[in-house]
Amino acid sequence: MLIDEKVMQALEECAKLAPLHNPPNIIGINACKALMPSTPMVAVFDTAFHQTMPEHAYIYPLPYELYEKNKIRKYGFHGTSHKYVSQVAAEMMDKDIKDLKIVSCHLGNGASIAAIKGGKSIETSMGFTPLAGLAMGTRAGDIDPAIITFMMEELNLSSDEVMDVVNKKSGVLGISGLSSDFRDLWSAAETNKRAQLALDVFHYKIRTFICSYAGALGGVDCIIFTAGIGENSAKAREACCEELEFLGVKIDKEKNNVAGKAVDVSAADSKVKILVIPTNEELMIARDTKEIVVS
Ligand code: AMP
Repeated sequence: MLIDEKVMQALEECAKLAPLHNPPNIIGINACKALMPSTPMVAVFDTAFHQTMPEHAYIYPLPYELYEKNKIRKYGFHGTSHKYVSQVAAEMMDKDIKDLKIVSCHLGNGASIAAIKGGKSIETSMGFTPLAGLAMGTRAGDIDPAIITFMMEELNLSSDEVMDVVNKKSGVLGISGLSSDFRDLWSAAETNKRAQLALDVFHYKIRTFICSYAGALGGVDCIIFTAGIGENSAKAREACCEELEFLGVKIDKEKNNVAGKAVDVSAADSKVKILVIPTNEELMIARDTKEIVVS
């Protein structure tokens, strides 16, 4: 969207939903406005790609009025990245994206998985906010919602303090007590049990989401690994594909020994293609911006 006062206002109204993202973005937009007052600015929303999700995927099993009146639903994030890598995957497989069922794993400090059918997102792991889904660097991902009120009551924490815990002190940092950086965890894992446990939880959740999304898609032709961990960590990709041979997912350990390059790392007899694809959100944003500003 072209940024105007209305869009700025909406961004500010939504700041509560994405506390790690919206406030710094608003600061950036205001700084650019001050420096380049006559240059058009575009906001490319990471939620846009997931607007194709069917109702049964984005409606939470809560009173329906909360959706109608308060707009509580699954939105999903990382859409710019999932859209970009799924398009590259179709090119790499020399197939029309309309014919593909793709599970896209964006594994960075923030992490999400999307199920993409015929080029359209039909399901994704982040939800109403980017806190849902996988265990992440510092975010808890899916937990029993009753833990929130339990922590408030038992630990005498305010809602802001609990949100701080689940956004900034959880995930692999919370489990390991060591770091949110996966390189630190891998180097400590041999001697540090909690570092290993943090990695195990991270990979286990990813595997369960991949299986769940294969079910949502009615099969899977291709699994994509992207973002900081997905692009660079051969060990993480191997751990994410463990136990998935029953789905036809078989990684080639030698081919998988790559970082930061677009490569097919599936074994010759793997029914499912496993692709490493460096994401390029900047390029996707530039393309969307051009389309909006030029038209
Ligand atoms: P991103 O948010 O996409 O920039 O990804 C950041 C995450 O990628 C950090 O947790 C890094 O530790 C992780 N990362 C980057 N390079 C590697 C690597 N070679 N092995 C494991 N994790 C990595």
